[in-house]
Amino acid sequence: NVFLEVKDLRAVIKDSDKEILKGVNLTINEGEIHTIMGRNGSGKSTFAKVLVGHPDYEVTKGSVVFKGENLLDMDPEERSHAGLFMSFQSPVEIPGVSNMDFLRMAYSAKKKTEISPIEFFHYLLPKLEAVKMDTRFLDRNVNEGFSGGEKKRNEILQLAVLEADLAILDEIDSGLDVDALQDVAKALVGLMTPKNSILMITHYPNLLDLISKRCFVHIMEDGLIVSYYQELHIKNCCRNLRSSFPVLKYELQ
Ligand code: ADP
Ligand code: MG
Ligand code: MG
Repeated sequence: NVFLEVKDLRAVIKDSDKEILKGVNLTINEGEIHTIMGRNGSGKSTFAKVLVGHPDYEVTKGSVVFKGENLLDMDPEERSHAGLFMSFQSPVEIPGVSNMDFLRMAYSAKKKTEISPIEFFHYLLPKLEAVKMDTRFLDRNVNEGFSGGEKKRNEILQLAVLEADLAILDEIDSGLDVDALQDVAKALVGLMTPKNSILMITHYPNLLDLISKRCFVHIMEDGLIVSYYQELHIKNCCRNLRSSFPVLKYELQ
């Protein structure tokens, strides 16, 4: 089942003619993990943001079909209802709002239904279990005083609560130490089902090594996906990447 099909996608910065995406093609099927790597400034975040409908960019050409529907016709909220989720490079703090309330509101908005705190708590427990977080997280204010790793895991918890079909994770591994990286990897693995897909954007193969599943690796360069590795086991593909892409050698440490 094709989930996401991107064809010849071109996009400019709104109200300018600066083209950032120059004809991106990408197909993601149900249950697959895809990753995009590439040097800073190559257009990875722009691609992710264009997929979720960020207002800074304008699509000038190409098509994006998500679960049979034309994604480009939808506003960002409709894209989220359709099952798209994006975790941003820097998650925001929301002082005064508990994580529990925030998640419940996000859930209600997405499912377009009210849910009582107690019902929601029961819904939440297995999700917490899946992402290896404990109930103490729920009483704390959203991201307030969270460590880098906790913020990233909190994003993954949101993803679990919203039961997104396609999660786009932009540098969810950035700035994390080895332990935090391991927790994030465990959370992601706990979340994968044969039905949902992940599109990860990363500079470093460390997270991929930890997830240790098969995935598709793409390289982005100057607004294009210049090459991709099909369904290779992560460990092999990282070795491959390092040797066959001298251009990326410095970033793929
Ligand atoms: P990456 O995520 O691969 O590091 P980005 O998508 O952030 O790359 O950026 C790609 C290019 O587009 C960069 O040259 C960046 O400066 C430029 N760019 C992206 N968004 C904007 C924007 N809103 N305004 C101006 N330039 C932008
Ligand atoms: Mg960047
Ligand atoms: Mg980026």
